[in-house]
Amino acid sequence: MKVLKFGGTSVGSVENIRRVKQLIADGERKIVVLSAMSGTTNALVAIADNIREGRLEVALDSIGVLRTQYEEVVDRLLERSDLKQATTNYVDQVFDVLTAFISESYTTLLYNRIVSQGELLSTHIISQYLLQQGLNVRLLPALDFMRIDKSGEPDHFYIKQSLQRILDESLPATVYITQGFICLDAFGNTANLQRGGSDYTATIIGAVLEAEEVQIWTDIDGMHNNDPRFVENTRAIANLSFDEAAELAYFGAKILHPQTVMPAREANIPVRLKNTLDPDSYGTLIASERQEVGIKAIAAKDGITAIKIKSARMLLAHGFLKRVFEIFERYETPIDMITTSEIAISLTIDDDRNLLAIRQELERFSTVAVDQDQSIVCLVGHSVVTHTETHRLFQVLQDISVRMISYGGSNNNISLLVSSKDKVRALQRLNTYIFEQVGVS
Ligand code: ADP
Ligand code: ASP
Ligand code: MG
Repeated sequence: MKVLKFGGTSVGSVENIRRVKQLIADGERKIVVLSAMSGTTNALVAIADNIREGRLEVALDSIGVLRTQYEEVVDRLLERSDLKQATTNYVDQVFDVLTAFISESYTTLLYNRIVSQGELLSTHIISQYLLQQGLNVRLLPALDFMRIDKSGEPDHFYIKQSLQRILDESLPATVYITQGFICLDAFGNTANLQRGGSDYTATIIGAVLEAEEVQIWTDIDGMHNNDPRFVENTRAIANLSFDEAAELAYFGAKILHPQTVMPAREANIPVRLKNTLDPDSYGTLIASERQEVGIKAIAAKDGITAIKIKSARMLLAHGFLKRVFEIFERYETPIDMITTSEIAISLTIDDDRNLLAIRQELERFSTVAVDQDQSIVCLVGHSVVTHTETHRLFQVLQDISVRMISYGGSNNNISLLVSSKDKVRALQRLNTYIFEQVGVS
């Protein structure tokens, strides 16, 4: 069985929903993971923010605007009167629930319930449409099987047991539709896999069912060699290893949620990235085989904080690094990049929720300087560190001030830390030096 995930744009209009139907109607049994229609989750986040800030009229207006959009979609997509009526009732119910949320006090749980409505809407509407079009389709509510544990990690054992049982017990179908992104937490409350999490839902399901392949259908023809939002003339990469794709996703290639590759890598399930708007283009195949060496792609991750910790003594005392790392561990704050000199250590974090407390503890035995608004620019490829063309990247040092370099820690990754205001220029310059100079592919 294959698992196919369709993202926001792929289900973002009546026309695109019709395309999706064409892509899944080949008679093969499959699980289809759907995101919310594009723009919906952002709108729901804004509604939640307005409720939190007490701007209830604004929230109510936005709910009204969204309701009208969905009524139009149902009206255009569904012709069979019984299905149309059932879907209209469902949509009404969702918007009544959202309206009722206005008078509740704001909590994280309320936020999670609000943002979950987008995937509930898209999957209900689209499964009714597919039924109308004659497909043998069944809706599998994600909240019946998708769960995270107390540390926020997917509970693979529970998910596998529950999903397998649901599939065994439900009437056989050709297409099983489920919601991406949403899940239950360890206490049974509605939660989610973080923004962009539908990709992750797809690979988690693929892994627990030992699927033949996971396909991520989106609005671009695969993983590009640089961020197409900031750099011109980027191109799709046909093949990536799991490790390369995992690094790119983790370091900011928005096409994949940062954790997406992990379950697929562990279960050795190929992941194919495909373009719903151009299904014939090859896309990208992520699989275990190692491919050609050299820099394959560049990505960037924002919101990075750099921390420079200087030992209070003149020389790096025995045990200094250990003390530093223990503090980050105690605050469950992962470190991304790290460089050391004789008396100082520089490192980066992307989760600054505990920054103040971490800083106070570090200052007991060192001087600390913190720089926020930094970006990690990451160059990824098999054996990039040893490849003969890699030196070209250092030409970027002529144009951009680079705060840290991590080179050699991993064979597949070279990371540069730059100020976020220089990020786009760094991506563009690196593109020129690495991918556009004559003789370099
Ligand atoms: P979906 O809604 O289908 O999940 P996303 O917007 O999350 O789609 O991801 C697709 C977008 O990711 C593309 O439109 C592109 O702008 C952006 N993107 C960023 N970096 C890359 C990259 N290296 N390769 C391809 N797309 C990228
Ligand atoms: N709808 C969710 C989001 O916008 C999940 C996803 O699209 O993957 O973040
Ligand atoms: Mg996405």
